[in-house]
Amino acid sequence: MYNKNMNIIPRPKSYKLLGEEDNFNLEGLLFIDRLFETEKSCLVEHFNVQTTTDLEKANIKFLYNKDIKGDESYTLNIYKETITLCANNSAGLFYGIQSLKQLCCINDGRVEAPGIIITDSPRFTWRGAMVDTSRHFMSVKSLKKFLDLLAIHKINKFHWHLTDDQGWRIEIKKYPELTKIGSKRVLNTVKEYYSSDFYSQEDIKSIVKYAMERHIEVIPEIDIPGHSTAAIASIKELSCINEELNVATTWGVHNKILCAGKESVFTWLDDVIKEIAELFPGRYIHLGGDEALKDYWESCPLCQKRMEDEGLENTKELQSYFIKRVSKTINKYGKKVLGWEEVIEGGLADDITVFSWQGVEVGVEAANKGHDVIMCPNQSACYFDHKHLDDEDEPGWLGVCSVKDTWSFNPIAEGITEEAKKHILGVQGNTWTELIMYPKTLEYMVFPRLTALSETMWYGVEDRDWEEFKNRLKSFKLTLDNMGVNYYRGDLE
Ligand SMILES: [Zn+2]
Repeated sequence: MYNKNMNIIPRPKSYKLLGEEDNFNLEGLLFIDRLFETEKSCLVEHFNVQTTTDLEKANIKFLYNKDIKGDESYTLNIYKETITLCANNSAGLFYGIQSLKQLCCINDGRVEAPGIIITDSPRFTWRGAMVDTSRHFMSVKSLKKFLDLLAIHKINKFHWHLTDDQGWRIEIKKYPELTKIGSKRVLNTVKEYYSSDFYSQEDIKSIVKYAMERHIEVIPEIDIPGHSTAAIASIKELSCINEELNVATTWGVHNKILCAGKESVFTWLDDVIKEIAELFPGRYIHLGGDEALKDYWESCPLCQKRMEDEGLENTKELQSYFIKRVSKTINKYGKKVLGWEEVIEGGLADDITVFSWQGVEVGVEAANKGHDVIMCPNQSACYFDHKHLDDEDEPGWLGVCSVKDTWSFNPIAEGITEEAKKHILGVQGNTWTELIMYPKTLEYMVFPRLTALSETMWYGVEDRDWEEFKNRLKSFKLTLDNMGVNYYRGDLE
């Protein structure tokens, strides 16, 4: 049975519910504009009713309309026993269908729907979710289910953390040792399997294609120059002292770092980035840049020589040199550069988009200086490895973040100038998996916090009401139930 209220999450930009007399229950016959033909298989699968090529006969119409502004926008009218969904782009049509699916009930080809008129478009262009598959490997099957979940939330970026101290998870053909050695973690735990696997290039292509069909851009992250123990364990020459070590088995910030003095490190990075750029058709590559401890750089003769040759005052400036140089390589292969907020240390390359994660302060500073920013602060907002509640029985660590905390986060933080607001591209929810071994646990930690954050990503924060959101969330949980999601069911605040 459908809900006679507007029960869509994320909330549409504007809507008007019509009277009872406009509700209907009838046999669906669907017409799809030929411009959306490429979407058809995915659409029909989504919307399981008979199709027709005769517009006159159809009572469900998916139409191209060039007057609709924005690639992700749509209008949806359910009125007088007809559903009319219009968009100027397949992404807009896709999002309209997500709304329609939440509004309607479709059973054996019959459609029940409330009368409503919706005009919708997103508040932010960057609506992201990051999953760390280094600390614990997540299967291709589980990631595809995760992408299905992103799609119903109208989330359009999947940030895929592929390498870290505890595992190198992406096949690089030129350097097979990266996955042969770097994906294997020797752990004395029952879950060794989840920590000892990698994504083949065929797996990656399959994920990217699946995401594209759902209008999700996949962002690969190779975390450098720190968080590189798995890479160095595979190729010891990447370190300052050709150090022989194992893939990290413990958590925390490790001091293993790629040498910034050796030319061979930059050659290796060029080769790796070349293969990654070919695998991911999206516009971006994320180079990490976070938590790089510089002990090795301080004592490495080659790193010290690099600083002297380049006129660099300290190792923070050496990090800046490193990031700028790798950024140029990423640009050379036609991609834009993303980095965690530490990339701002020692001077930031002009065109790096900054992920503000230790709070909003660096994001505010970067935006005010004219850099594009993604807001994803860890405390009480966007880190889903934190506990839902301050309760010793709840899983999670490093902080407490209730569903309401996430919902309440405003990415247009205090201190951002009027002019700089346009540089806040959007919001992202991040899930680090040090303590998350299974896809089912991942679902528990992410949902419905990401559901709450999707409301901010798509609708924004103006004129909202927590109680009203909670009502819609009740209906939305039925969707999550139908998809077999192991979401968190405890207190929301
Ligand atoms: Zn060095």
